[in-house]
Amino acid sequence: RLNAIAIDGPAGAGKSTVARRLAERLGAYYVDTGAMYRALTLKALERGVPVDDEAALVALLGETVVAFGGPNAEGVPTVLLDERDVTQEIRSPRVSGSVSAVARHPGVRAELVRRQRQLALHYLSAGRMVVMDGRDIGTVVLPEARVKVFLTASLDERARRRHEELARRGERPTYGETLERLRERDRKDAEREVAPLRKAEDAVEIDTTGKSVDEVVEAIVRLVEE
Ligand code: C5P
Repeated sequence: RLNAIAIDGPAGAGKSTVARRLAERLGAYYVDTGAMYRALTLKALERGVPVDDEAALVALLGETVVAFGGPNAEGVPTVLLDERDVTQEIRSPRVSGSVSAVARHPGVRAELVRRQRQLALHYLSAGRMVVMDGRDIGTVVLPEARVKVFLTASLDERARRRHEELARRGERPTYGETLERLRERDRKDAEREVAPLRKAEDAVEIDTTGKSVDEVVEAIVRLVEE
């Protein structure tokens, strides 16, 4: 078993906020795997590489470096795409709307999973605990993780959180639009052929509806201490 915590779940369940706080609390290294899919998607959109062209995407990924830097002013680790800070840009509705199409390709997944595992093993071998969040961490990337959590929340709550997050960033989609986009992304992530979103058999499901971030973090800390 690896000294790692795998956090999976649908969009808007609170994974990245919880995972980040949890990592701070435990002194662990945090890896946001969604950011890697998002960074590749941003680069494809910028270069005009079609999101349904798997070979072109795999080739693009081959000449792409996605790295994580220190936290920005909001405490969010910076995401570096070929050394450019894209922390904000990868959260845009344009990227969110295309990322599932990029993430469904087996060739793209194989390479990103390889990089994610390598990153985790690097920190684990240096004696750090690792917290990783995504859709397939407990099932594919780190199946040997010591603790696996599947975070959920009602669709309404997830849409509300996402809507607030977008508003903070100055985006103004309606609540209904936000909910529809979230539902659509979940559907694509759950129905894709390779590594569809699903709870690992040995994952503990936590419904975050109506819970504070601290409550969820504490619940996971208890699992880690068990
Ligand atoms: O977690 P986040 O919303 O940033 O993930 C963006 C997208 O990246 C997801 O909707 C999914 O299509 C893809 N993804 C994935 N596997 C992961 C992490 C993210 O397929 N481990």
